[in-house]
Amino acid sequence: MNNVTLSKPQGDLAGNSKVTGVGAKPVAPFAGADPKASPPFTLPDFNELQARITASTPADVERALQRSRRSSADLAALLSPAAEPRLAELAATAGRITRQRFGRVIQLYAPLYLSSYCANRCLYCGFSVDNQIPRRVLDLAEAEKEALILAERGFSHILLVTGEAPSRLGVDYLAELAGRLRHSFASISIEVQPLAMADYARLFAAGITGVAVYQETYDRQTYTRVHVAGLKADYDRRLEIPARVAMAGMREVGLGALLGLADWRTEGLALGLHLAYLRKLAWRTAVTVSFPRLRPATGSFAPLVPVNEKNLSQLLFALRLFDEDVGLVLSTREEARFRDGMIGLAPTRYSAGSCTVPGGYGDTGATGEQFSIGDQRSIEEVAAAIRAKGFDPVRKDWDPVFQETDNRATAG
Ligand code: SF4
Repeated sequence: MNNVTLSKPQGDLAGNSKVTGVGAKPVAPFAGADPKASPPFTLPDFNELQARITASTPADVERALQRSRRSSADLAALLSPAAEPRLAELAATAGRITRQRFGRVIQLYAPLYLSSYCANRCLYCGFSVDNQIPRRVLDLAEAEKEALILAERGFSHILLVTGEAPSRLGVDYLAELAGRLRHSFASISIEVQPLAMADYARLFAAGITGVAVYQETYDRQTYTRVHVAGLKADYDRRLEIPARVAMAGMREVGLGALLGLADWRTEGLALGLHLAYLRKLAWRTAVTVSFPRLRPATGSFAPLVPVNEKNLSQLLFALRLFDEDVGLVLSTREEARFRDGMIGLAPTRYSAGSCTVPGGYGDTGATGEQFSIGDQRSIEEVAAAIRAKGFDPVRKDWDPVFQETDNRATAG
């Protein structure tokens, strides 16, 4: 599928291939989402997107830099090899926009791993079902204890993470945990198995406000190569989940591509197209984009393509110029030196003091991590580095009371 001819360098790069998603339970879309506003998300063929990027000229880059509102064709130019000599200008423009739209603040969050069980076989992941690692699912009391350690360390934003094994950890567990934690944290997000729209709506009511669901790679061929077995092996099923999250009324949905699987420039353009689609579909749902680079993990999967720090920088800057309001996440997968260098340029959210083992905050000897961490600093050290650059590390910028107000407004 995906036979799309890209025409002119100007204008949007709209695809017309049909994407088939799995059905969700019927739930009324929330007030900010208009299902009639957009057809299902479609993506042009990955190779054709790549060709569009490669064809960009220095003149295309110049035009993209001069514009105040940038199209997906401009994004293609900014991601192209032709933009590399202009990286310093991209950085300066990205920094100016980021300060204008977000102020001099960076939000800090921590992941909380609840379970390392997974039914999928993803070649790049330490939790992949075939890997011989110690597996564990925290019970609710253990999960609450881990969360309170993070609260005591000063975190107000947490991301609950699990492998995809619904028989081990399902919606009832997440709803119960959210109910226990919602008054200790300003926001609770999840990165778990894809759920039905009704389940997302239920979790939102329970206190979960954000869902991260990364496509990992938008290249269909590579996707099939690295997702060998399990429900995640279905590319189309995965692709339609962010729209479902938004339609369920979540306040935030997180997109992402795992860098090192396919051409990073093309992943960036695909992310931009997905982002633009969600903007039209559900204007009240904020969108964040993450660019995790592959890290060493059990299974010793080697990156299929190289992605260096300069590449990652260009990706971050280009996305910031394309969408001035998108939240950009830079996690502890990256080294401290690189993360410090990016402060004030494009990212708006940093993880800190992260551990990728269930129970690892309370038990520092716990083993069975999903991947190794690049930036090992504590939250205090990360916050100090942010302050040293003249920025404010924000641990709380949202209060659950806003969500209660929002729920009442939506219900009305
Ligand atoms: S990437 Fe996610 S779904 Fe795949 S093996 Fe790891 S935890 Fe499971």
